[in-house]
Amino acid sequence: MAEPQDIGAVTMDKIVSLCRRRGFVFPSSEIYGGLGSTFDYGHYGVLAKNNIRERWFQAMVQQRDDVVALDSAIILHPRVWEASGHVEGFTDPLVDCRTCKLRFRADRLEDAQCGRKPSKQPGQGPDCDLTDARKFNLMFETTVGPVQEEGARAFLRPETAQGIFINFKNVLQLARRKPPFGIAQTGKSFRNEITPGNFLFRVREFELMEMEFFVPPAEAEEWYRYWIDERMSWHLAHGLRKSHLRVREHGAEERSHYSSGTSDIEYLYPIGWSELEGIANRGDYDLTRHTEFSTTKLEYVGQEGERYTPYVIEPAVSIERILVAMLVDAYDEEVVAERERTVLRLHPVIAPVKAAILPLIGKDEAMVGKARALFEELRRRHFVEYDDGGAIGRRYRRQDEIGTPFAFTIDEVTLEDDTITVRARDSLAQQRLPIGGAGAWLEDALAKPWKTPKGD
Ligand code: ATP
Repeated sequence: MAEPQDIGAVTMDKIVSLCRRRGFVFPSSEIYGGLGSTFDYGHYGVLAKNNIRERWFQAMVQQRDDVVALDSAIILHPRVWEASGHVEGFTDPLVDCRTCKLRFRADRLEDAQCGRKPSKQPGQGPDCDLTDARKFNLMFETTVGPVQEEGARAFLRPETAQGIFINFKNVLQLARRKPPFGIAQTGKSFRNEITPGNFLFRVREFELMEMEFFVPPAEAEEWYRYWIDERMSWHLAHGLRKSHLRVREHGAEERSHYSSGTSDIEYLYPIGWSELEGIANRGDYDLTRHTEFSTTKLEYVGQEGERYTPYVIEPAVSIERILVAMLVDAYDEEVVAERERTVLRLHPVIAPVKAAILPLIGKDEAMVGKARALFEELRRRHFVEYDDGGAIGRRYRRQDEIGTPFAFTIDEVTLEDDTITVRARDSLAQQRLPIGGAGAWLEDALAKPWKTPKGD
């Protein structure tokens, strides 16, 4: 077979267009003209997100003795956000342009463009007229209660972490844990970002996956390093290239006031190195503040009467930033045997569909019968797809574009000897195997460690 030829760099536009074309992600509220930077997920987007969440949950909870799960409410008592410092401090500096009426983050002007042609950095065009920077709180406000005027002001959570801190005592007592132990949760979080954009990278509604790990203060630094390594290993094990990942430690001036260490795991997105996941040593700030505001003591008391407020190490990442990184890492356009193909080389455990079952001739009843039977067998355990429409080459290319790692083809030979062809997405290698062994073969193939053929 001819060596595949790589043809072209990955851009965010190509990812957006593939996601749209294949039904991963749609702009939200499209029939009403769209709502900036919010997205709806189609079938394959839902499956890929579920796989990411499931793999995170397996690594962070299921396979550990020291982490338990939680699912707290999205709307919490408003005092939670006073205690956490969000009402006061969860702000970005914002400037308005009196001429073009656009708003920009004062600390990110170099990444922005003014609304007038020729578009320049805001403030640098001849007509630019920027206001002084004002603080803008990123929390979405709502009212709890039937009458708006009398209801209590509340917020949609901008992170899931606070739901964990306020349940610290419940978990400590009821799950019978002692530090070091962690509480993990995933869920929708909301931030009224001033300059959202870059597809799913910065959206106003996203799904966070956070774990708060409570440790004796003297062990905090060690656990902080441990979790940076663990999370880095997770990203590598799920297919992201080593050369596209790095850890960047925040300088003292960049860190939140309560943090004694923060590191970002950065990915080389098409927009440049940017934060994929944050790992912070939050000290005892959160538990101390909630103790103060709620007057409920949030501390650990040991059997011998020793008591202390645990320090917290927090790895926090959104499914959206992982999904974009995985799509960018996986995207390839190449020419094989003079035909162009777009292929998503996703890790098989993340790929939305694990295998396609394709009768070579869609009108051949015997082939269709065998293909449908295999499909019914495999779908009991996995998302697999049956497709009998159109030329086989087109069906393969469609599966390549959604990242399906394997295709089972049922052809004339199958009717004679009950063997089928397996086609591998990455190498395009084909082999024959007995139809009765397809289920076990797939199980085995999905359990194997996978490395992208794109190298490190
Ligand atoms: P940034 O500096 O990019 O605004 P942040 O430092 O405010 O991010 P954190 O509060 O550390 O972000 O959030 C933890 C994680 O949540 C980030 O590492 C990222 O994975 C994710 N995240 C934060 N904001 C968004 C967003 N608007 N859209 C998608 N994911 C987000």
